[in-house]
Amino acid sequence: MASNSRDFYQILGVPKTASADEIKKAFRRMARQYHPDLHSGGKKAEMEKKFKELNEAHEVLSDPEKRKKYDQYGTNWDQAEAFERARRQSGPQGFGRQSGFGRQNTGSEFGGTESFSDFFDSLFGGSKRTTATATESHGFASPGEDLEVDVDLTLREVLTGITKRVNLREPEPCKICHGMGMLRDQPCLTCRGTGVTSEMKTIEVKIPAGVQDGTRVRVAGKGQTGKHGGKRGDLYLHVVIPVDPIFRRHGTDVHVNLPVYPWEAVLGADVTAPTLTEPVKVKVPPGSKADAKLRLKGKGLPSAAGGHGDLFLVLQIVMPPTVTEAERALYEQLNTHRHPDPRSELLSAAQRRSRE
Ligand SMILES: [Zn+2]
Repeated sequence: MASNSRDFYQILGVPKTASADEIKKAFRRMARQYHPDLHSGGKKAEMEKKFKELNEAHEVLSDPEKRKKYDQYGTNWDQAEAFERARRQSGPQGFGRQSGFGRQNTGSEFGGTESFSDFFDSLFGGSKRTTATATESHGFASPGEDLEVDVDLTLREVLTGITKRVNLREPEPCKICHGMGMLRDQPCLTCRGTGVTSEMKTIEVKIPAGVQDGTRVRVAGKGQTGKHGGKRGDLYLHVVIPVDPIFRRHGTDVHVNLPVYPWEAVLGADVTAPTLTEPVKVKVPPGSKADAKLRLKGKGLPSAAGGHGDLFLVLQIVMPPTVTEAERALYEQLNTHRHPDPRSELLSAAQRRSRE
């Protein structure tokens, strides 16, 4: 919370009825007392804070217009100013309605600071943080905050890059009252007398090929609206690449399991294999072993340096779901041949372990 949570009159040590001259004198006296250059160590930081507060209080109370607003709206006075600016910018017909805010403030529907805080909550996403300081020459302009939105990408989208559509709330002049805030001498119900509504808008953002999980893509000027002419924040798309059940990413390389029958592995076979785009024909070489990897060069993901990674097909030896009588006879024949015990290595390893 910024320093304007404290009462400006209290900060300057003057009564609410103080004259402009009294305020000036109080400011000078306290500025000499608090000036950070006159302090050192831990005291310096404390004085810097007090000095900043003092400047802020003085800037407001020494300006008759600002002081009037401050007296009327209290600590939210600066939002009142942003509010008026929003009104003035909201459309040609809203222009020139100088008395608008004061009237709403006394109206029955739109009373006091609370309702317009609500309005700012909805327009600026609930943030009332102000980063303004009294040293900014043009009052309290403060930039809008950045927004961050998650976007899920498939590996296929990472391969090609993609344009994502993002829905955003954007401030718009109210369509019902044409930005006037009033309808037939009553505050407009649609915009709650503000003259401004927020509209869902869709923007398109290009996400380049080859992005990594966690990458943030910046869209300048699409964040929260700034206050008092402060510039808008930025929008960041936070790229999320969920684990793919089929394609496993290893940097720019991609691994995918490829099931083959035992005889295809032994004899070799022409099979169709999936890639991130279209399926391709590949040769399983004769004598292939389980877990062997077949490399498809350049079929992986693009790298930042240019070029592409590879796609690896990992051979999985699988059994056919059913066995015919004829096939059973062939297995019988296989069984009469002598083979090394496929469990011998496992058995001796397990044995060694039990002795340890
Ligand atoms: Zn309206």
